Amino acid sequence: MKKPLIVANWKMNPISLAEAKRNFEIIKRGVRNIKNVETVVCAPFVFLPALKAAKNLKLGAQNCFFKNKGPFTGEVSPAQIKSLGCQYVILGHSERRKYFKENTEIVNRKIKAALEVGLRVIFCVGSESKKPGKEIKYQLGKGLQGFDKSIFNSLVLVYEPVWAISTTKNKATATPKEALSGFLYMKKVLEKLFDKKTAREAKIIYGGSVDSKNVKGFLGEGLMSGGLVGAASLNPKEFIRTVIEAGKS
Ligand code: PEP
Repeated sequence: MKKPLIVANWKMNPISLAEAKRNFEIIKRGVRNIKNVETVVCAPFVFLPALKAAKNLKLGAQNCFFKNKGPFTGEVSPAQIKSLGCQYVILGHSERRKYFKENTEIVNRKIKAALEVGLRVIFCVGSESKKPGKEIKYQLGKGLQGFDKSIFNSLVLVYEPVWAISTTKNKATATPKEALSGFLYMKKVLEKLFDKKTAREAKIIYGGSVDSKNVKGFLGEGLMSGGLVGAASLNPKEFIRTVIEAGKS
């Protein structure tokens, strides 16, 4: 298996720049010698200029607009993110769909704009349903519309069942088997959209209550390419433990 990819999604945390810098420094020191995992921290926009990618640690944003400059009050562009030294951007997160009414057509435009400036895209796909089905098929079909298979050189998919995100009311966690069923369903859809080889090689990571205790279970089959880590990444020591455990899978 290639290096697993472990991505911290800090969401709208922490409150202060001082805390963001402190947490980032702890992570930086903790992963400096972990070469067998690709580790990324996706921080809020406001903190990005103060955080610098380091040895075995990359930097990413959690969203971007689909234009690079102009009269779009309050938005942040892919070119601006790139200019801060970010290599990654998370797009299509379910919280953006829920709270900001972001639909998959918009996500498709954002993916295009981010790739155009050379950012790597972490494209989240997932639904409220326990059984992966047509919503995921739609998100993949629409989100990747207009791209050919070369997109997978710069794009990582996330299977993130919305019901398994740690901050949702139901407090449910997916089992590795449930994660695997979403992963396999996505591979099947990708095979139809592209071809067998592309589907086989496409990187899919898992998101939803991942932490140091369960990460090996999600990566265990050697199929999942990594994990997107929300709540557990807010504690820098726990995030480092998650990275270490992922490296053992
Ligand atoms: C997320 O929402 O991207 C996420 C990974 O959250 P959590 O790990 O808190 O479930």
